[in-house]
Amino acid sequence: AHLLARIDRFDDDLNSFITMTPETALEAADRADAARAAGKAGPLTGVPLALKDIFCTEGVKTSAGSRMLDNFVAPYDATVVEKLAVAGTVSLGKTNMDEFAMGSSNENSYYGPVKNPWDPAAVPGGSSGGSAAAVAAGLVPAAMGTDTGGSIRQPAAFCGITGLKPTYGRVSRYGIIAYASSLDQAGPMARTAEDCARLLGAIAGHDLRDSTSVARGVPDYTGELEAPLTGLKIGLPREYFGDGLDPVVEAAVREAVKVYESLGASVREVSLPHTHYAIPAYYVIAPAEASSNLSRYDGVRFGHRCDNPQDLIDLYKRSRAEGFGEEVKRRILIGTHTLSEGFFDAYYKKAQQVRRLIRQDFLDAFEEVDVLMGPASPTPAFDLGANKDPVSMYLQDIYTIAVNLAGIPGISVPAGFAGRRPVGLQILGTHFAEARLLNVAHRFQ
Ligand code: GLN
Repeated sequence: AHLLARIDRFDDDLNSFITMTPETALEAADRADAARAAGKAGPLTGVPLALKDIFCTEGVKTSAGSRMLDNFVAPYDATVVEKLAVAGTVSLGKTNMDEFAMGSSNENSYYGPVKNPWDPAAVPGGSSGGSAAAVAAGLVPAAMGTDTGGSIRQPAAFCGITGLKPTYGRVSRYGIIAYASSLDQAGPMARTAEDCARLLGAIAGHDLRDSTSVARGVPDYTGELEAPLTGLKIGLPREYFGDGLDPVVEAAVREAVKVYESLGASVREVSLPHTHYAIPAYYVIAPAEASSNLSRYDGVRFGHRCDNPQDLIDLYKRSRAEGFGEEVKRRILIGTHTLSEGFFDAYYKKAQQVRRLIRQDFLDAFEEVDVLMGPASPTPAFDLGANKDPVSMYLQDIYTIAVNLAGIPGISVPAGFAGRRPVGLQILGTHFAEARLLNVAHRFQ
């Protein structure tokens, strides 16, 4: 109840929530109290949190930040939502996001931009900007995000919190509104790696309803948090410290690396030679998958429908024209083009080949080192409204999207400030190395 009042008081200005769910939250809190009284409480019992508005929640509006789904009430819970409820957490509501998770600043939301709690002139990052801002502002201790190309790690960096993108397949995608299915992955955003470890333990695991989820046991992610880092081999990818990296961000990352050295780690430079192909490959693959996933919004079955359609084609055309925002339309057009006959081999197929090479770069690097470290984003949070050109916005994702193409896990942890704006350190590991990443992140905090 205390946090609900805080959200009422501060969120008009911050705009981090799209929908609040106070009634169901208070009911869930009562159930948590009862569980505690009965001696049946787990580590997450009664913990309040928020869900990015991309997770389907039964009986609650699930908009994905789009006008298209402004009237959509999900008929079922996503697996992540179900698992969090079983763990006893209390969801306070659904957080703001870039439309269909397309964006790096939360400015593509139908519900308006979110402010960065550290500096109201700055963006919170995106696409999970509402989740990051809500945690940073102390409105909730944790929130769920999704990361297709950095959407957990970059807003975590911009808002000075910790955000983990798990290995592709670690967490079920069932009930998460699809953006680019071969890249989408859900993960926790919280103040600390320790909190992320608890939450990941609750949401990870195989799910028969998501055929890409991996049948592999879920370790106790809190078990290794304190493990010493003596002998840890850290790689610094040369390509992550090149042109375009803000010197203040670079200095903060290098300071963090020194801290690790003082904890007994060794550091060496490594190379991820195909890094500069990551943005072009991602911006072919992601829009291609998006154009296919978004073809379901036709105004017929659910979602926005235009007034007075003249015939079926008119219904499709106007419903989609009115329901989707500009960036979403841009990506549908790009994706439809690259998948069309005559262009498929030149774009989509080529991008998939490049994706293989990018994945191999990481696997080669992890033969030599245990983790990679670098910046989460080339700059600290930029000003609201400052970045109007789509391509310069895409270039923001330079350090995050290769990770999704490779399917490996990554975590962003707070590593200082540039003036009032936080800077994030990104730590990457090989597939299913989440426990190691959380350990490394935790020892820094
Ligand atoms: N900024 C990237 C994009 O716009 C990543 C978004 C995401 O991870 N969902 O596609």
